[in-house]
Amino acid sequence: MRQGPTNLYDLTRPALEEWLERREFNRVHAARIWNYLYYTGVRTIEEMTEISPRLRDRLAAEAHLPRLGVVHETHSSDGFTRKYLMGLHDAHRIETVLMKFTGRVTACVSSQVGCAMGCVFCATGQMGYTRHLSAGEIVAQVMHVRDTVRELAAASANPAGEDKLRNIVLMGMGEPLHNYDAVMDAIDIMRDPGGLALGAKKITLSTVGVVPGIIRFADEARPVHLAVSLHAATQEERAALVPTAKRWPLDQLMEACRYFVQKLGRRIFFEWTLIDGKNDSPEQAHAVGRLLQGIPAQVNLIPLNPTIGYDGAPTRSEAARKFQDVLAEYGLPSTVRQRRGIDIAAGCGQLAVSAATM
Ligand code: SAH
Ligand code: SF4
Repeated sequence: MRQGPTNLYDLTRPALEEWLERREFNRVHAARIWNYLYYTGVRTIEEMTEISPRLRDRLAAEAHLPRLGVVHETHSSDGFTRKYLMGLHDAHRIETVLMKFTGRVTACVSSQVGCAMGCVFCATGQMGYTRHLSAGEIVAQVMHVRDTVRELAAASANPAGEDKLRNIVLMGMGEPLHNYDAVMDAIDIMRDPGGLALGAKKITLSTVGVVPGIIRFADEARPVHLAVSLHAATQEERAALVPTAKRWPLDQLMEACRYFVQKLGRRIFFEWTLIDGKNDSPEQAHAVGRLLQGIPAQVNLIPLNPTIGYDGAPTRSEAARKFQDVLAEYGLPSTVRQRRGIDIAAGCGQLAVSAATM
């Protein structure tokens, strides 16, 4: 069977070296190609002018660099957030978000088309699962944000301004640990010092709690941050919000978290979507405090972004503050995520089902 062209954005650096060797080119050429791909940011193979014509022809014949087209773009009224609806080659769509806070740009990227985990309050969960993204489709989202940031910096009065893509959060559509291999390849590509050179500590992977994935992630010891979406501190309450909790119950999840901490000696971020009257009482905050005892942790509280498929309201700020006070009694630092960009429903991890209907 004849294979289609290789998507160069799918290849980690060792994979690119192997690709070259299989075609009897020296692996040293990988460095220059890599530089073109991720440092210069070329859009076509023809722009790789400083590699030999023989290699360039071979690349042109057997590989390509498919970027994702922007199908729709929305900017929040506060100017801090841009949401992109990106078209994939098979006409599916995903969302990527650019968030900009005083010189710090964060890209929120998707890992799947839809999601199989079915969290009841999540717009992506309500869509169901369509397919995994390839590493190249994840990397292409990052490249799009990086290019946008470069263009904005070049167009601004202060081109030397500190706007730079520095942070990546895997909190867009999909469950990253359900698409483990492609996500890890994408992370390795983003971290490569000869290209995008994103610091591992600037990358955060958020999971709903895929226990075998957390264990493998701990064993492989990539120094990327881990965020675990908790939302409830008892198995029963959690299973009502996060159906996959039935498959990977809370006690197993906490065991995996302890394993991660033991192995890597790093803290874990726990995410908690605050839903009015559902999981925002002081008693529930006490239960979180008890549950996380002994785990170096930070709790990120996210006021619910209402979605069409779920009848719930965000916690009022007073209750959120009280929740934080209780967590502090247990020595747990916490943040309440600012609802920036809410007017375009571009809050990270809160991407709208409307994407499917646009
Ligand atoms: N699948 C991963 C990552 C994507 S979701 C995960 O679940 O962790 C990123 C975060 O946004 C998760 O903590 C998720 O629970 C939260 N989230 C999803 N939908 C939301 C909504 N409607 N309002 C507030 N937070 C939401
Ligand atoms: Fe999937 Fe995360 Fe949404 Fe749950 S919250 S359905 S795991 S994207």
